[in-house]
Amino acid sequence: MRNKWDDKEANKLISFYTKKGINKDLALRIYSTRLLGKDPNIVLHGGGNTSVKIDLKIKKNVIQKILYVKGSGMDMSNIDINGFPALELENLQKLQKRKKMNDFEMTNYLKKYMLETSFPNASVETLLHAFLPFKFIDHSHSNAVLSLINQPNNYKICRKIFGDSVGIVPYVMPGFELSKKAAEVYKKNPNIKGLILLNHGIFTFGKTAKESYNRMIKFITLSEKELKNHSKTIKKDDYKENKIKPSKLCNILRRFLSIPKGDDYEKKIINFTKYKDINYFYSKKIIKNINGPVTPDHVIRIKSKPLFLDFSKIKKNNIEKYVENKINNFTKKYIAYFEKNKHINSKAKMHDPNPKIIVVKGMGFFSSGKNYKDSIISKDVGLASLSVTLNSFKYGSFKPISDKNIFAMEYWPLELAKLKSSNLPLQGNVTVITGGLGTLGYSTALKFLKEGSEVILLDKIHVNQFHKDTTNMFTYQCDVTNKSEINKILNKISENFGGLDIVISNAGLAIHKPLKDLDKNILDKSFSINFFAHHYLTQLSCEIFKLQLTGGSILFNISKQSINPGVDFGSYGLPKSTLLYLMKQYTLEYSKFGIRFNGINADRIRSGLLTKNLISRRAKSRKLSVNSYIKGNLLKKEVTPEDVANAFFHLSISFKTTACIITVDGGNIEASLR
Ligand code: ZN
Repeated sequence: MRNKWDDKEANKLISFYTKKGINKDLALRIYSTRLLGKDPNIVLHGGGNTSVKIDLKIKKNVIQKILYVKGSGMDMSNIDINGFPALELENLQKLQKRKKMNDFEMTNYLKKYMLETSFPNASVETLLHAFLPFKFIDHSHSNAVLSLINQPNNYKICRKIFGDSVGIVPYVMPGFELSKKAAEVYKKNPNIKGLILLNHGIFTFGKTAKESYNRMIKFITLSEKELKNHSKTIKKDDYKENKIKPSKLCNILRRFLSIPKGDDYEKKIINFTKYKDINYFYSKKIIKNINGPVTPDHVIRIKSKPLFLDFSKIKKNNIEKYVENKINNFTKKYIAYFEKNKHINSKAKMHDPNPKIIVVKGMGFFSSGKNYKDSIISKDVGLASLSVTLNSFKYGSFKPISDKNIFAMEYWPLELAKLKSSNLPLQGNVTVITGGLGTLGYSTALKFLKEGSEVILLDKIHVNQFHKDTTNMFTYQCDVTNKSEINKILNKISENFGGLDIVISNAGLAIHKPLKDLDKNILDKSFSINFFAHHYLTQLSCEIFKLQLTGGSILFNISKQSINPGVDFGSYGLPKSTLLYLMKQYTLEYSKFGIRFNGINADRIRSGLLTKNLISRRAKSRKLSVNSYIKGNLLKKEVTPEDVANAFFHLSISFKTTACIITVDGGNIEASLR
């Protein structure tokens, strides 16, 4: 493990923070916390924690001892001053005299002794930091250390590697009891430089941030060397799965992992990861003995173990049934585990019993989450967990904590508080918008993002040429008139998100020419984008919906031209009225799969399609001024892109509405449908 401490960088951060009146030690605390946090082999997503003890002069001759400790669930890689709540150290230390303390009391004390309660809650391991006397304390779940401390003879191994330089603490769940235990181990040997928490992780201490960081790197390096020098190879076959593509399997998994909820489903985002070492897990030694997490922190993210699938002896036609049975078996076992252990926590409500990590021989693994971010956390934690377990087996064996201890952690309210939940109506949905970087597409994207959906924009221009904020959206450059290009991108979307739920087929092109000038070239061009692009995207999306079987909504931007022609606008109106027919035909043929098809007829919106130039030409052709053209509707109100976005959203959640057109035009009786 490379030591990444850089005095120059550290000094830069000190001068940055001292200018803001922040103590040098706290600046260094931030610096080395980030150093540890940036390495996924050391800590992941909100795991690990660090602290520093500082004497703060609060008044003349009055010094207060402060513990700055990482906030619960905060990410160490980008932590800042507001990630370190300050607590009254002496009051915390007094709690050490207590024999017992429940979580409720502990949480209350941690809140009570905070200097400023607007900061995040202090780490659940705060008391451990407070009860040890060291100025700087670092805690990580280093992969190399985890591979060793989950061995059946972990105590002996740790003594062999670290000698007496560390104290060894047997597994106790984080909280008050663990803090007492750690302090007890320290008192037996006050010369220790760190602590090993069996089946959990490692702590190091130092007078300076650098000393504590150096010790962390040193102990991790020793562990890495031990693994390197004493690991044996495990046999694996080189089977490659080619009966099914990962993208198709994503769609099928989405079907079985989504949970029916009213007229809709609680959908999962699924992410596929290729993993070259995957076949090792199918050796007898491993597949039968993977039975728990590598560190308790992982349980809330990926459950205690993955689901393993192996299609090598399964016929292609039986894959779906096999996957369904395997998932059903997994959930049955999970329910039994919950029933057996629920006495540990009478308030526990069972989590979704489905697997979070699904491993497929010869392919890789799939991670699932409530939203994209959650699926990526599962993926990173899953990857770390698989590689730690593999190294454990190569070194010797793997013996994690008991089911009882797993349950206590999985249903611990203080741990669950780390999971942020949202109840937005479109959470877990994947929305694809064509012409996504145009005015209507982008406004619709903002609306769907706000309602909790993952938003993917397809556009012929590259996002680098787009100057509005696309944070939290995903973009693909795509010519939607090219069917094979759409197909490629939809496959990528399936691998990254699991599939699709809402498709807003919006891209269009308006050509302004009288009928006498319309030749085949112009009509081909217009039909290609205003009709065929919609048809191809719908065709391909429906194939995904048919594998997912969780409904699906296709929304077309049809335009009022489809029923109310404008002068010199034939080349636009012709494909659009055909598109209206296409929507009805799809409804007829695909409703049996639960797929809905609806459209918007919008009119006179200032956009990339209806440019200033075109507006003035359209106004002229209707013998109106630009202003009265734009507001030329019965309500005399300008219609905005946001109005269109709201109409698309409304249709997306109207689960019993199909083959419906919403007009968004401020009132135009000639364009009204009934
Ligand atoms: Zn920990």
